[in-house]
Amino acid sequence: MLISGWKSISMVDVHGKVTFTLWLCGCNLKCPFCHNWRVAESKECFPLDKKALLEEVETSSFLIDYFHVTGGEPLIQWKELGGLFAQVKLLDIPISLNSNLTIIKPLERLVKAELIDHIATDLKAPPTKLYGLPENVSIKLWKLFLKGLDVVSQYSLPLELRIPVAKGFEAWNWIEEGLSHISTDFYVVLNPLVGKPLTYPRDEEWCSKHCWPRKEVDNLKKRLEELGIEVYVNSWSSQ
Ligand code: SF4
Repeated sequence: MLISGWKSISMVDVHGKVTFTLWLCGCNLKCPFCHNWRVAESKECFPLDKKALLEEVETSSFLIDYFHVTGGEPLIQWKELGGLFAQVKLLDIPISLNSNLTIIKPLERLVKAELIDHIATDLKAPPTKLYGLPENVSIKLWKLFLKGLDVVSQYSLPLELRIPVAKGFEAWNWIEEGLSHISTDFYVVLNPLVGKPLTYPRDEEWCSKHCWPRKEVDNLKKRLEELGIEVYVNSWSSQ
């Protein structure tokens, strides 16, 4: 398994939880705002030393709420990931997966095998602008994402729904469509997109037009709260 690293105690990867976080390399999307694009493109990655990882996970186990796997897109390496999850489960530690939910069959397999206890995902709206891929491909991937939300709901997995907020797009119809596929416990975390000097996005020109939203964040928070949804906003300083 190709990874870019891990952090044995993290307080910022899942809202209100302490996690042991592992970053896996590779991704099937090309989000222009991605600040983990080196991980997504498998640059600066190395093979996992599973024994060392599991020893460290065991040592941290009394402090953590979840073993959290993120990336990149972890389901790219789903077979190896399933094996790792099974070993972490033996330590009696709940597992949280951050996925873009577009790789459906592997997601279903891991969920059916009861290897996942919590999901975090981004609702990237509009996908035609935020996936960084040709429009027809983005639409297909969006449909897969909606199926992914169906799977999460079908198995009643608790969900952290993250919404990256960009400037200058009409996103609400996409967000409403995504929300209509969620029937499990969830809350929303709004992530205003940021660029330099806080992060180094994949496409700086794109980010100069669409990062650093202001009124979009307040408007979206208000609309979601009007629907009775619990909403948290990641401030720029916390990112
Ligand atoms: S933001 Fe996430 S889904 Fe998008 S390219 Fe980066 S790692 Fe992949």
